[in-house]
Amino acid sequence: MLFQNAIIVTIGAIILTVGLTFSINIIRILAKYNMARPWILIVFLIAFFFLGYVFTALRFLNINLLPGVTLEGLVTAIFFFGAVFVLLLAFLNRNLFASIFGVGVSDSKAIHMLSDHLKIPVRQIYSMIKPKYSVTCDICKKQVDYTIADIVRSHPRLERGIIVENAMGGVNYRFFVRHYCGKEVREIPVRHDSKFEYRSHGPSRPV
Ligand SMILES: [Zn+2]
Repeated sequence: MLFQNAIIVTIGAIILTVGLTFSINIIRILAKYNMARPWILIVFLIAFFFLGYVFTALRFLNINLLPGVTLEGLVTAIFFFGAVFVLLLAFLNRNLFASIFGVGVSDSKAIHMLSDHLKIPVRQIYSMIKPKYSVTCDICKKQVDYTIADIVRSHPRLERGIIVENAMGGVNYRFFVRHYCGKEVREIPVRHDSKFEYRSHGPSRPV
């Protein structure tokens, strides 16, 4: 029975090494954007689990690598760090999905965020914006409807989705409208004037 346990734990350790390779791959991708730090912690946790699994498998085979550590002590640590691991992954995924699909804020909260970002009073924004705008996608030729709140929602980092440009007659806003174009998400840059009137749009780009 203990031998079977050792085999199952060893298979678990092999699965962990596959997870480890994926995580190292993610670090390589994110390192370019200086966003790899949480994943380094995840790699450390996986390495800890791996050592724990190896230790446990050997213990089942009556080989005791660390006589000072009991199996109960190790199981307790694995349970605890397992919970930390899940929390960390859930947090990272939440941030990832928020950056792809936008943050779940109401229209009014979105307009307040825009007001803070542009330093324009909320009431003034409401008096200028239209309930809906639309632009045609240059790839699928479909009409893409959007609201100013949609733009705020789809850009957790507002400075990436709303660019203020100083023009001769005041300011222009360049909004990046997110659009699900077939299988990919694209952004269409649209230019609005200082009164939030639509002016023009440029070629879309994949996100
Ligand atoms: Zn399209």
